[in-house]
Amino acid sequence: MPQPLLLATGNRHKLIEMRALLGDIPFELVSPHDIGLNLTVEEPFHTYLENATQKARAYAAASGLLSLADDSGLEIDAMNGEPGVFSKQFGGEDMPYPERFALIEKRLAGVPQEQRTARYRCILVLAAPPPDDRLTHVEGVVEGLITAQPRGENGFGYDPIFLLPERGVTMAELTPAEKDAVSHRGRAARKMAEVLRAWK
Ligand code: IMP
Repeated sequence: MPQPLLLATGNRHKLIEMRALLGDIPFELVSPHDIGLNLTVEEPFHTYLENATQKARAYAAASGLLSLADDSGLEIDAMNGEPGVFSKQFGGEDMPYPERFALIEKRLAGVPQEQRTARYRCILVLAAPPPDDRLTHVEGVVEGLITAQPRGENGFGYDPIFLLPERGVTMAELTPAEKDAVSHRGRAARKMAEVLRAWK
């Protein structure tokens, strides 16, 4: 029986992407729901690394399992890197994304397309449960532009306004497999897969 690896998130979109991305590592991927764990972890910090570490450690301590947490966000240069680490809360956690796109568009009014540069960043933290307590992290980034016209139905969150300039499509116009091939989470997950393959 392979060792379990807990995907330490309540975000169903992240779970789906992580399951696809880590499908061929020698671990049994489990979600909090699979093991009957209902945990809310505060994310009070101003860095992805601190928030992801807090989540990974909390899930590892509560479950006794090796745990993998994701903290990620969208950084828009013309907004001084906002929403960044506060991407989930931007505009209010319950604000529908089309309204958030309108808020962003208001902030970017008059900014020409070539200056609408942005990136998604994803930090993945792997935490071993106590008493081992080992921690390791990786990072993945994808560069893009913020488009005024949201497009596409796939993905989640800010994907309809995140344009991949070299392909001329938004992240939400990609299939899940195409998104995984280029995304911040895909890039980080492939690095983490290497860490996990060597994990003793
Ligand atoms: P976290 O749960 O605090 O890491 O919040 C991550 C937030 O960043 C999500 O709720 C989204 O708003 C945004 N985000 C992260 N990754 C993606 C992505 O792949 N597509 C779209 N939005 C994302």
